[in-house]
Amino acid sequence: MDAVEVEVVEVGLRDGLQNLDVVMATADKCRWIAAEHAAGVREIEVGSFVPPKLLPQMADAAEVVAFARTLRGLSVAALAPNLRGARDAIRAGVHKIGIPVSVSRAHSLANVRKTPAQMIEEVGSICRMRAETAPSTKIEVGLATAFGCTIQGTVPEDDVVRLAQACVAAGVDSVALADTVGYANPSQVRRLFTRIRAEIGARLVAGHFHDTRGLGLANVMAALSVGIRSFDSSLAGLGGCPFAPGASGNIATEDLVFMLESSGFATGIDVAALIDARRLLEAALPGRPLYGALARAGLPKTFRQAA
Ligand code: ZN
Repeated sequence: MDAVEVEVVEVGLRDGLQNLDVVMATADKCRWIAAEHAAGVREIEVGSFVPPKLLPQMADAAEVVAFARTLRGLSVAALAPNLRGARDAIRAGVHKIGIPVSVSRAHSLANVRKTPAQMIEEVGSICRMRAETAPSTKIEVGLATAFGCTIQGTVPEDDVVRLAQACVAAGVDSVALADTVGYANPSQVRRLFTRIRAEIGARLVAGHFHDTRGLGLANVMAALSVGIRSFDSSLAGLGGCPFAPGASGNIATEDLVFMLESSGFATGIDVAALIDARRLLEAALPGRPLYGALARAGLPKTFRQAA
């Protein structure tokens, strides 16, 4: 029997870099993307289309997209929080636009100065613009703070349901649930993914987990157990929050691939090549903390990856 395929989406260039206090050189970003593509990664979120004044790290987004598009078979994704960013992303040639919609009203106001309802209107405008100018470009909403929020605290599951339905009504292709601040636990993950699946079916495709409290990979297993087959991660767990010392970022891509492959899922990604790719980050971001257990301990002698 063929192994079940699971998609691993690298988001370190967006989610990992956006919190860093140093700007990574464009050439280093391109080397990173090329290394992951060579390792077998087939979707990479390469940056975000936001005003460079707000986020100097992403000023080269169009250039990075142009490079990523030259790599065969790679789906090039970028984040865009509004219509203007989405237009720029389409002009740059992305295959997929990710739109962050925070379920927590407090987080949404702090992050994009819009309520969740106003963000849904923005999502609708982006979907209409896409239909007119680039119908083959995919649009995915990541429902941020779906499992809890550092500002608001509890995020009611009914709010997540309502927003997931509103995204689908607005015309998005897919929805992901994101544990932006590392509050989720596996029981909650199973419950919420099952509930949203019941509401919007196969449009719920992906999980985005942070490892802030060490439960990132456990949450992936929980989502896998209810049928989710796509996960975001960042090489070396890059990221974290500058306001929470010691808090790591996304789950580490190499740890995620190792867990999936050793559990019998097929990712198409060479885990040893990912561990090698970490050296690019060590060189490009000297002195910045890198995370992940696999790189510390090495691959077990018993690990065999299907070619
Ligand atoms: Zn994130």
